[in-house]
Amino acid sequence: MSGYYQKDIETASREQILAIQNEKLVRQVRRVYDNVPYYKKLMDDKGVSPDDIKTVDDIKKLPFLSKADLRDAYPYGLLGTDLKDCVRIQSTSGTTGKRVVAFYTQHDIDLWEECCARAIVAAGGTNEDVVQVCYGYGLFTGGAGLHGGSHKVGCLTLPMSSGNTERQIQFMMDLNATILCCTPSYAAFIGESLAEKGYKPEDNKLKAGIFGAEPWTEEMRRGIEKSLGIKAYDIYGLTEISGPGVAFECEEQNGMHICEDHFYAEIIDPDTGETLPEGEQGELVFTSLDKEAFPLLRYRTRDICVLTREKCSCGRTHVRMCKPRGRSDDMLIIRGVNVFPSQIETVLLNEGYAPNYLIEVDRKNNSDTLDVYVELSKEMFSDKVSDVQAKELQLAGAMRQMLGIGPRMHLVPPMTIARSEGKAVRVVDKRNLVDKGGK
Ligand code: ADP
Ligand code: ZN
Repeated sequence: MSGYYQKDIETASREQILAIQNEKLVRQVRRVYDNVPYYKKLMDDKGVSPDDIKTVDDIKKLPFLSKADLRDAYPYGLLGTDLKDCVRIQSTSGTTGKRVVAFYTQHDIDLWEECCARAIVAAGGTNEDVVQVCYGYGLFTGGAGLHGGSHKVGCLTLPMSSGNTERQIQFMMDLNATILCCTPSYAAFIGESLAEKGYKPEDNKLKAGIFGAEPWTEEMRRGIEKSLGIKAYDIYGLTEISGPGVAFECEEQNGMHICEDHFYAEIIDPDTGETLPEGEQGELVFTSLDKEAFPLLRYRTRDICVLTREKCSCGRTHVRMCKPRGRSDDMLIIRGVNVFPSQIETVLLNEGYAPNYLIEVDRKNNSDTLDVYVELSKEMFSDKVSDVQAKELQLAGAMRQMLGIGPRMHLVPPMTIARSEGKAVRVVDKRNLVDKGGK
C-alpha cells in the first residue's frame, strides 16, 4: 500500500475536516466580500451578508458563479488580492469556448502543488521515482501542476511537455521513467507507438500513470494499463479552482478523493440549482476555501458527477467523486435523445476497437444525423470489404442498444484519425444549434 503525502490531513476524521472547512469558509467569504466587488454585488443582490455564513451548511445561501461570470469579469474582476501579490497566471484550454484566466499567489501555487504531490504519492510515487510529465507546459495547468507536485515529492522530474512522441519514447526508455503523466488519449497513443516500435509492455520501467484533464472510460483505462504495463490513476481538476489535483485516485481506483481541506464540493440539480443529497447525480460545484488570488465561491463546473462518503480502504477520508460522466455541455441531444460521447467510447472499446474515433453530428432535412468514424486495426484492415460492412452493421446495432439510437458507423483505415497530444477532440457538431453563450 502506498503512503500519504500529508497523512494527518488526508486521513483526518470527518469532524476535523468539517471544523477546518467551517473556519476557512467563514474567513474566505468575509475576505471575498471585502475584496471582490463583483461577488459582493452578487451577494448584496441575493440579500446575503458574510454574517449569514457560519458553517458549510450555510453555503447554500451564497450565489453561484459560472463560466459566464468569469468571462464577464475577465481579466481582473474576480481577483481577491492586489495584482502585485500574484506570481502566476494560467488559462483554461478553451475546450468549450473562450479561455478564461486564473491568478495565483505563491500560497496558491504551494497548495495546488501539494494537492498534485498527494496524487503522485497516492499513485505510489516516492523520491526514488522518475516522473515524466508530458502534459502541456505553458498556460495549461497540466504541466505546471504535476511538475510542481513531482518536485514536492522529490521525484526526478522530466519536464517533457506534450508532443514529439519519438523523443518521449526515447527519454522514457533511456532515463527509466517510472511514472507517466499526460492525458489518457496521449497515453493511449504512446502505448500504440511503443508497440509499433516493437516494444513489449514489460520493456519499459513505468509502474504507474496519472492521467486526466479529459473524460475517459474504464474500458480505456484497461487498454492503457495493458499496453504500458502499468496501473493507471485518474486525476481531476480545473483551472478556475487551481488545476489538476483538485481530486485524485488512490489504489482502489474507485472514485477520486477531493482535497476537501481546500475545496468544498457540492452536487446540485443543474436546472433548479438545488443542492442534492450524497449519492445523487448532478452538477459539481466547488468553493475554494483558502485560495487568495482567485477565490471562487460556488463555482459551477458543468461536470456531471456523483459524490460518495463511503469508507475507502486506502485510509483517506476525503469525499470521493466518480469519473465525471462528461460536461453538461458535452451531452449531445440527437433526435431528442441524450447521448454522451463516453457511451460511444464504451461500446467501441468493448467491441475490441482502439479509442481512435470521431463523432460527427449534423442536421439534414430537419433531422439530426449521427456518424461515428472508427479506425480499423491493421489486422482488421486486411479483411474483405463485405467483412468490414458486416462489422459496421454489428457496431451500429451495439450502439443502438447503448444509446437508443443507431448511428451510421464508418470503419476507416489505420492511422487516418488524428492522434491527440493533449485533450482529444472527439466531437464535431455541425448543427450550430446551441447558443453557446458567446463562446
Ligand atoms: P477547459 O474548460 O477549457 O477544458 P481546463 O483545462 O481547466 O479548461 O479543464 C477543466 C475541465 O476538464 C474540467 O472541468 C473537466 O470537464 C475536464 N476534466 C479534467 N480532469 C478530468 C478527468 N479526470 N476526467 C474527466 N474530465 C476531466
Ligand atoms: Zn481511497
